[in-house]
Amino acid sequence: MEIDIIKMKSDNKIQHNKITSIDYIKWMKFILRRSEEVGRVELPITAVIIDEKGRCIGRGSNKRETNNDPLGHAELIALRQASLIKNDWRFNECMIIINLEPCTMCAAALIQARMGKVIYGAEDKKRGGFGGAIDLSKHKSAHHKMKVTKGILEQNCKRELKLWFKNLRNQK
Ligand SMILES: [Zn+2]
Repeated sequence: MEIDIIKMKSDNKIQHNKITSIDYIKWMKFILRRSEEVGRVELPITAVIIDEKGRCIGRGSNKRETNNDPLGHAELIALRQASLIKNDWRFNECMIIINLEPCTMCAAALIQARMGKVIYGAEDKKRGGFGGAIDLSKHKSAHHKMKVTKGILEQNCKRELKLWFKNLRNQK
């Protein structure tokens, strides 16, 4: 699979380069490692937001239990951080990478934020807002068109979540 990514050239001009999906995989591996730590307290979900220069400008992990916050989803935490760094609420040139498909709340927020690309690992057939349960990116209410790519390190993402739920059941 080939994707478009903007890379900085040595002369500081921004250039579009074709690279393989290896960059997604690099970030997904980071997300899986981070989620493993998060999984001690929370559902192991982590999101990163990458800007047009390939820099990580936002990072978030689930904080619902820790902060007793129904809005404490990884994607929303990463969005808030990135908008502070960017000093802008628009993310047309950015991408967000997450191990699990965003829920409908987060999917709607990402559409509101005009996120350029959404990349996720495992599909969420029960709650997913980008194809699993409903595809809000294709809904008539979506005023913004974004690219959605799923299945990056899908098996690893699924395995981590499955293990977490199994451990949770065993604790009860
Ligand atoms: Zn969510």
